[in-house]
Amino acid sequence: MTNPYLIGGPALVSFSGGRTSAYMLWHILDAYDGQLPDDVHVAFANTGKEREETLRFVHDCASHWGVRVRWLEWRTRRVKDDQGNVVPFDERFEEVGFNSASRQGEPFQRLIEAKCRTPNAVQRWCTQELKVRVLKYFMQDQGYKHWVNVIGLRHDEGHRVQRSLKPTRQCWVNAVPLHEAKVDNRMVRAFWAAQPFDLQLLPFEGNCDGCFLKARPKLWEIERTAPGTLQWWSDMEEGPGKGRFVTEYSYRELMRDVRRQPDMFAGGHFDLDPDMDADCGSWCGEAA
Ligand code: SF4
Repeated sequence: MTNPYLIGGPALVSFSGGRTSAYMLWHILDAYDGQLPDDVHVAFANTGKEREETLRFVHDCASHWGVRVRWLEWRTRRVKDDQGNVVPFDERFEEVGFNSASRQGEPFQRLIEAKCRTPNAVQRWCTQELKVRVLKYFMQDQGYKHWVNVIGLRHDEGHRVQRSLKPTRQCWVNAVPLHEAKVDNRMVRAFWAAQPFDLQLLPFEGNCDGCFLKARPKLWEIERTAPGTLQWWSDMEEGPGKGRFVTEYSYRELMRDVRRQPDMFAGGHFDLDPDMDADCGSWCGEAA
């Protein structure tokens, strides 16, 4: 049986900064005796709303394991149209690093300003623009026309795996080595329990800090344990986004709920919940 972690290049290992994709990266490195081929790239697309713990974890993985991780952020140039209005133009990316990575939501905010609206669960263009397309531009910039897109979907993420393996007209094909190796969440947790470092977040705290895909009790818990986290999201709704991320409630209401009854939401048992542990870009990696 072939080793699913021996990825033929050219390939892009999409590193979300979560435990699962880091586990995948470790095993790919191990399959190559610690040295990836030149045409196998590892990239992390930073939205600017990742938690500091996630950025630290990405940095730790790279330095502990001796692998080059490319840090990428969405960018756009702005030009004036015939009427003198500033309009977004030429979506691209910029390569940054641990120290220079955006931490105040800058790429995400600029995207919302360019679109003049907020994304939502149905129109989740933040994933597409900030992650999927950024990674695509990166690979095209390396000179590739076709490549393998390696995503960290586990065997126990059945429907996401099936969706990722559907044929597309994109310039990449998806590979899911964790699925092929029958890796589940329990195995990932056991791996990290034995490592000298770990992601200092609960699973639901990963990805963008106040992502609208997180269930309301989780957003309450996030605001309760890190007050002010949801302020940026509220500012986007009331500012450039001109509307809500979630139809049923605003982020201002979420913060108000927590302020009024801070104890009501304490001690939620979310730590075993694998939701949001996946790279949000993997969920719809078939589109871009
Ligand atoms: S984590 Fe949520 S808010 Fe961030 S890019 Fe993904 S879907 Fe959008």
